[in-house]
Amino acid sequence: MGEKQQKRLQGQVVLITGASSGIGQGIALRMAQDGAKVVINYNSDEDGAQATVEAIEKEGGVALALKADVGNEAQVEQMFKDAKDAYGSIDILVNNAGIQKDASLVDMTLEQWQKVINTNLTGPFLCARAAAREFMAQGIKKEVSRAAGKIIFISSVHDIIPWGGHVNYATSKGGVAMMMKTLAQELAPHQIRVNSISPGAIKTDINKEDWSSPEGKEKMLSQIPYGRIGEPDDIARVASWLASDEADYVTGATLYVDGGMTLYPSFAE
Ligand code: NAD
Repeated sequence: MGEKQQKRLQGQVVLITGASSGIGQGIALRMAQDGAKVVINYNSDEDGAQATVEAIEKEGGVALALKADVGNEAQVEQMFKDAKDAYGSIDILVNNAGIQKDASLVDMTLEQWQKVINTNLTGPFLCARAAAREFMAQGIKKEVSRAAGKIIFISSVHDIIPWGGHVNYATSKGGVAMMMKTLAQELAPHQIRVNSISPGAIKTDINKEDWSSPEGKEKMLSQIPYGRIGEPDDIARVASWLASDEADYVTGATLYVDGGMTLYPSFAE
């Protein structure tokens, strides 16, 4: 009482993969508003990454863009080193980068399969490993957080809803669900919390083809009991809370942030 209200992520450093657009960009903006210094990882979209940095700086926040392909071990290691050199520590990792390369099973090339698995599953593994090594080395800094570190996976409702025509994507997210729980179990004794957010339909570039036509939009809405397509900030607010000490006793959890998409809406009547 009477004390100045501290922002929930004040003094913490977050690294967000694939933060040049969409959900990752939304999380970057929100976490910066909540007091974190933000490392914006990007792979190809340098303009998007710079625009995100500028938007954060304009609001008085602190951010830096770092290029790395999350599926490339050497680039990931270099990125964590550069982030640490710039800000002194890393407290939160958001494993957000992800892609789709859709095809029916019989038409899917090995390249389409491997590209998606490499970005959506191997990428989060490489980043989680680098982050956990860092969290363990630095330990708990009581003035910033009760935990030594936090890892958040941006998974998908397709970690439990099968998705024909997307076996590479659905398999990668199913793998993320088990990676998250296994790492949560393994890292809890080190005071590292690991959780997932599984979004439903969020309006970003990844699903632009679906929401940009009236028919596509109607089909999407028919799968969402809450009656609206999500925005990146719907995910970002939850991510910021999950990374904060307000969620200090939450580990190994998947939060479905999906307007009810996982409630089997076709059984409603
Ligand atoms: P998006 O395409 O805007 O964002 C994906 C980001 O990942 C892009 O910035 C892209 O440049 C980056 N990226 C791709 N490959 C990379 C690599 N090798 N290294 C580093 N960055 C790379 O789409 P989005 O919807 O914001 O997707 C973000 C995450 O949310 C993904 O993991 C996606 O699977 C997940 N998701 C999205 C939805 C949705 O409806 N939009 C639903 C469920 C899950």
